[in-house]
Amino acid sequence: MDTDVIVIGAGLAGLQCARRTQRSGRSVIVLESEEAVGGRVRTDHIDGFQCDRGFQLLNPAYPAVRDWIDVQALELQKFGVGVVVRTGATTTTLAHPIRHPRLALPTLRSELTPLPDLVALARWFGPTLLRPTTASRSARDQALRTSLDEAGFTGRLRSDVLDTFLAGVLADSTGESSANHVRQLMRYFALGAPGLPRAGMQALPEQMAASLVEPVRLGTAAREVREVPGGVQVTTDNGTIRGRIAVVAVGPQDLAELTELPAPLTRGLTTWWFRAPERPHAGPFLMIDASTPGGGPAGPIWHTAVVSEVAASYAPAGQHLVEATTLLDRPDGLAGEDDVRRDLERLYQRSTQGWEVFVHHVVPHALPAQLPPLEDRRPTWTGDRVLVTGDHRGTGSIQGALVSGDRAARAVADLLEQWQ
Ligand SMILES: Cc1cc2nc3c(=O)[nH]c(=O)nc-3n(C[C@H](O)[C@H](O)[C@H](O)COP(=O)(O)OP(=O)(O)OC[C@H]3O[C@@H](n4cnc5c(N)ncnc54)[C@H](O)[C@@H]3O)c2cc1C
Repeated sequence: MDTDVIVIGAGLAGLQCARRTQRSGRSVIVLESEEAVGGRVRTDHIDGFQCDRGFQLLNPAYPAVRDWIDVQALELQKFGVGVVVRTGATTTTLAHPIRHPRLALPTLRSELTPLPDLVALARWFGPTLLRPTTASRSARDQALRTSLDEAGFTGRLRSDVLDTFLAGVLADSTGESSANHVRQLMRYFALGAPGLPRAGMQALPEQMAASLVEPVRLGTAAREVREVPGGVQVTTDNGTIRGRIAVVAVGPQDLAELTELPAPLTRGLTTWWFRAPERPHAGPFLMIDASTPGGGPAGPIWHTAVVSEVAASYAPAGQHLVEATTLLDRPDGLAGEDDVRRDLERLYQRSTQGWEVFVHHVVPHALPAQLPPLEDRRPTWTGDRVLVTGDHRGTGSIQGALVSGDRAARAVADLLEQWQ
């Protein structure tokens, strides 16, 4: 036997599973098909810029991040907790009133925050905010759209702000995602200030991998996982590895290759990364576009940010890095550069002539579709010795991936204990 546990996939779930397994005194080998750890949390370094493979943020309020990650070592550069909303020729900044007290009055007096909407928001979200996740887990779940309708949440705070912002977060412009999942995410937004590690998002999985005694075997794709008498056998291009248990921690799109499980539904997005010679916009907030009457963007871009404004380490001194995100569930999700530039010019009200595209990340399987009902799902055994984990077994987020990986390790530890 080469090891107690073989973990396939060095994304956040696989790495957390491996770390917990190691901590319980078991040996573990991690196989990763790519040449670096991180899975969906990777960073490209180009000419002194850092472009994450799809714009995303780390929220230090996630309980799993608080408990298992050394956030201080990541040196998080924090975004403002709020948004700039473009509606036609106007922009309005709406911000968390406690975190940005100077913006509290303008936020509450804005046309985008009518009182009936604030009341509806409190009714819809208040219980989850005040009581931890159990409140949202025990509540009847529905599609987000239906749930907000039933709460009487029908004004501009809903149509222009919440729907638009959440579509970008969930990569779902349809409103079909689980309302309870969204309530939980919003609770974390309300409690934390998400940001970007100094060395890019990939610093998160790299920190996790660094604590493994046996380094992750990079560039090693598992081709087959088979139960054999007394253990499991994983076939790779470089040979066969035998262990007592295998944990399959691959993303949703790769699951069907190694298991009998159906491929989970996913949501996709694309992120364009531009270098700008001048600073297009000041302030620490994400900009969302609600220029279509009734809400939603007037072009392909759902949100954009001058990332270097918040995360100075993402661009060389004196230069600026802009992200623009489109959604693949929209007909214009794969809009070309000319359309994206035109949209950015409208959003920032300036020419993008001197701007240069670095890279366009197309991520068709960014997140598992989180349809209702939200369940307290567990990693799934597909045999006596093969366990499947990942965000698609829990919730589609950094928190969900870490928790799923941790639960897998606990289940494995219990089983190994029983066999002793
Ligand atoms: C663009 C984008 C934006 C996001 N925004 C946020 C956000 O703001 N906040 C948030 O909380 N979450 C966000 N997420 C979600 C979060 O990143 C994911 O939920 C999480 O990273 C999933 O981790 P995972 O370990 O479950 O899967 P993955 O990261 O997909 O890891 C699976 C790993 O398995 C490897 N693998 C696959 N097949 C094999 C094989 N045969 N052999 C060996 N290895 C294999 C893959 O290479 C990969 O490394 C975002 C995701 C994306 C892509």
